[in-house]
Amino acid sequence: MFNLPQPYKIKAVEPIHLLSEKERFQALTDVGFNPFLLKSEQVFIDLLTDSGTGAMSNQQWAAIMRGDESYAGSSSYYALEAAVTDIFDYQYTIPTHQGRGAEQILFPVLIKEMKEKRGGKEPVFISNYHFDTTAAHVELNGAKAVNVVIEDAYNASTFHRWKGNFDVDLLQTNIEHYGAENIAAIIMTVTCNSMGGQPVSMDNMAEVYAIAKLNNIPVVIDAARFAENAWFIKERDPDYFNVDINEIVKTMFHYGDMFTMSAKKDAMVNIGGLCCFKNRIDLYQQTQVLCIPMEGFATYGGLAGRDMEAMAVGLYEAMDYSYLTARISQVSLLSERLAEVGIPVQSPSGGHAVFIDAKAFLPHIPPHQFPGHALAIALYLEGGIRSAEIGSLLLGRDPETGKQKESPTELLRLAIPRRVYTNEHIDYVVNAFINVMEKKSEIPGYTFTVEPPVLRHFLAQFTPV
Ligand SMILES: *Cc1c(COP(=O)(O)O)cnc(C)c1O
Repeated sequence: MFNLPQPYKIKAVEPIHLLSEKERFQALTDVGFNPFLLKSEQVFIDLLTDSGTGAMSNQQWAAIMRGDESYAGSSSYYALEAAVTDIFDYQYTIPTHQGRGAEQILFPVLIKEMKEKRGGKEPVFISNYHFDTTAAHVELNGAKAVNVVIEDAYNASTFHRWKGNFDVDLLQTNIEHYGAENIAAIIMTVTCNSMGGQPVSMDNMAEVYAIAKLNNIPVVIDAARFAENAWFIKERDPDYFNVDINEIVKTMFHYGDMFTMSAKKDAMVNIGGLCCFKNRIDLYQQTQVLCIPMEGFATYGGLAGRDMEAMAVGLYEAMDYSYLTARISQVSLLSERLAEVGIPVQSPSGGHAVFIDAKAFLPHIPPHQFPGHALAIALYLEGGIRSAEIGSLLLGRDPETGKQKESPTELLRLAIPRRVYTNEHIDYVVNAFINVMEKKSEIPGYTFTVEPPVLRHFLAQFTPV
């Protein structure tokens, strides 16, 4: 296929600088070999996350100037609400400071409704896969988080078009096992972040929604990457080949009752989130009440007027077909080029990141010496590129036995910020990998010199073995 380049040109540039090899080694030594602790100015290409790292458009920057900073009833809130109603067909909008802000005000309301209206006692949330903060908010509210993604999602090398799908049988079994009255909500994560940004099919969304309705369980769409999911549906489901992205989005959201959204992903703002309701005014009103002490008054939710204004524009830009094509093609370009040179990658790649199988790439490093982390360090030393380990280091120790848990997969994630890097930057990353590959047998594993008790990957320090 003849590929078009990125459908935008550059108006403002932000210089980046590659430290010398010696400086890179010194920088890493200074932070105990933990790339999380590097200063961003020490990083040449930053693929740590796609969250809040996107480039805003000229239209978004113009919207920033329109921001109305009134405490209550800001016109920017009404612009955002109008965008939500137009795009998703949802009536009620609460802005939040980011995705987890929406989770923290919605989940207690869902649990309360489950106990008071549906006679449940032990709250359970079932998802294709709960994102980390989503699971954390489920558990902070005393509920259980159950994941029922299809088995194929766990196999990085087998091709499946919809690796984000719910295993519908497993969903049914779990509803029966826990009792429908105890299921506070079903959470559909689109795309499925924890499984590598893999899409959920429209048929699967429809089927899950039908099961939920049959059992009187509310459905929450975790919508951070709604537009990327819609693009995959257009691309991979022949029924939607001729359907516009905005129509696909409307249909997707028909299969939910409410959604939480981190607007730092597809909506391309640096901060912001949403908690919206199709028509459940009762849940909306209770969530508004919680918003005030937790996030801020219900027409700003922890955001400045200008943030809401930029989000309203970003929600539309996220659905631009030529942008989405260039965006997801850039991710698959990186994935395919790495595969060509012999790097084991998840196949097919998802919407926002490339996942490398570090266990297969560095078979000489055992799990407790963190192959994903070792590869992240090698990549920084080689090219000043920052990436993130998703494996045993992230997983941590068993809280009861204190033993290191062994992750089923040891991955390195290269998350691609939106509209930030050109395909030349992608080529550079591939070339850095080619060099890393030549010396891979010399890459050491790592052990802790400092190991914090919780969420240790953020602040830990290491030494090469
Ligand atoms: C990022 C993300 C969240 C949390 O959003 P924040 O804006 O980081 O608080 C929740 N769910 C999914 C699927 C995400 O990707």
